[in-house]
Amino acid sequence: MASPAAVDTWDIETDLLIAGYGLAGACAAIEAHDLSPDARILICEKAPEAEAGGNSRVAGQSLLISHDARALADYQRAMSRANPVPEEMLQWWAEEMVGLEPWIQARASEAGAEFIRGTGFSERDAVLEFPEFGARAAVAYTATILPIPSGVWLAFDANVRLRERIERRYETAVVDLVQDPDTLEVLGAIIAQGDRRLAVRAHRGVVLAMGGYEASLDMQRNYYGLAEAWPLGTPHNTGDGIRLLQKAGASLWHMRNQGQSSGIWPGIQVPEYDTAFLRTFFWQSFSWLEIAADDRRFYNETAELQLTHYKEKRHGHWVDTPHHRAGPVHMLFDETTRMHNRLITTVMSWNPVVLGYDWSEDNSAEIERGWILRADSIEALAEAMGRDPAAVRATVERYNAACAEGADAEFGRDPATLMPLATPPYHAVRIAPAVVCTGGGARRNQHSQVLDHDHAPIPGLYEAGELGSMVSDLYQNGSYLTEAMISGRAAARHALS
Ligand SMILES: Cc1cc2nc3c(=O)[nH]c(=O)nc-3n(C[C@H](O)[C@H](O)[C@H](O)COP(=O)(O)OP(=O)(O)OC[C@H]3O[C@@H](n4cnc5c(N)ncnc54)[C@H](O)[C@@H]3O)c2cc1C
Repeated sequence: MASPAAVDTWDIETDLLIAGYGLAGACAAIEAHDLSPDARILICEKAPEAEAGGNSRVAGQSLLISHDARALADYQRAMSRANPVPEEMLQWWAEEMVGLEPWIQARASEAGAEFIRGTGFSERDAVLEFPEFGARAAVAYTATILPIPSGVWLAFDANVRLRERIERRYETAVVDLVQDPDTLEVLGAIIAQGDRRLAVRAHRGVVLAMGGYEASLDMQRNYYGLAEAWPLGTPHNTGDGIRLLQKAGASLWHMRNQGQSSGIWPGIQVPEYDTAFLRTFFWQSFSWLEIAADDRRFYNETAELQLTHYKEKRHGHWVDTPHHRAGPVHMLFDETTRMHNRLITTVMSWNPVVLGYDWSEDNSAEIERGWILRADSIEALAEAMGRDPAAVRATVERYNAACAEGADAEFGRDPATLMPLATPPYHAVRIAPAVVCTGGGARRNQHSQVLDHDHAPIPGLYEAGELGSMVSDLYQNGSYLTEAMISGRAAARHALS
């Protein structure tokens, strides 16, 4: 941190400084604007304008709607049993969640957008991730804002743009806090615009809404033990918020949440892109399987794992699927699956949604690019992957025999999905561990105040959204975007009260 003595003059004066323009930052700004007719509000976003919006912009846009605060608190308490959330925080969160829907609807209508029930890209009305913990009572339904993709983000971005008093600066990173070394009060921040460093005085507070650390391999390794991890969202979420919070003397929590909470997903990583493509979860055919480092299958590939954020039940507990321990992992498929399934989803994630990569429907363009390997025999495919041809052949034969029997004794794949790899040519693509969210950050209270190591608020410092998310351990679909709204608004309310 920078001490006030190091600041000769304040280059910019504002009331509320918001670091990061994703949904949490947008909601903090909207609330501040609507609460306080005179407040000066400045959002600083590290990315260029064309790449702003963070993970909020490329998320599945699913919103958790609950009409029962008690059931919702009970559900999250049960999901967070491994690392309990303070009860006061849990109760507050549940009540805020139950009151949130009309506010979201008002934002949609102000933007001229349509709020709908459901995900917008599947037939489901609600995703009930962990029924045994009370999902049915807690979750009324899933909702979203059209269009798909990015509808929720687009509506909130439009709300910010309609409020002209909110100043937005892009390509402007918050790089340090200005903090009194004795009282720990945060007075402002240092921002970087290219080579320029500017001191910003924030009279009412600084809200850190800088998202997670998905794109920091160093943090992935040290906080979660992932040797390899690729973001599915923005490459700009490099854990800057975590570094600022550590310097400010905050107590960190939930640093290892990304696995149990949002899961480690099957990604497709190619050299031309910094972030991973997300493999599809809607299949027209199932003549495919995955193999681990030992050339063998290692889990039930066609279980609907997207409905539990890539967790499967082991020994009575929900745990991450083992992609990050099993690697290198390859997915093998035959010509039938190649022709009838676009391998990636286009409704979320960075490369299709923001960078506009248009993956071909039959994957032929990606074969041409060399992203997908193709060979006339399984042995030749194994050689192209750098694997043992006899071992890969044996795995495919074992799987094809299970298909013929209609029973997968090894991993219990649904018989309806037991389709043999039978139609050459055969294909392989490497599956990389890909992450949706990290969730760790500073311990915070229901006013989104950042807490120090004695759990006392650090004056003038707030945190919202995925950075320091309240969610601990298991996670219900649609909680992160709604938490970004609630915590962003709470920060603005407290700072301007
Ligand atoms: C593929 C995918 C699908 C998802 N689906 C869902 C879903 O359906 N429902 C759900 O609830 N959640 C979902 N999530 C999770 C959800 O998107 C995030 O948790 C949420 O968007 C976080 O919002 P945020 O505002 O905290 O952070 P973000 O939206 O990530 O915004 C953070 C911003 O901070 C900026 N920033 C970073 N460092 C700095 C700095 N130093 N200075 C200034 N700015 C900085 C970044 O550039 C970024 O724009 C999904 C995530 C992904 C990746």
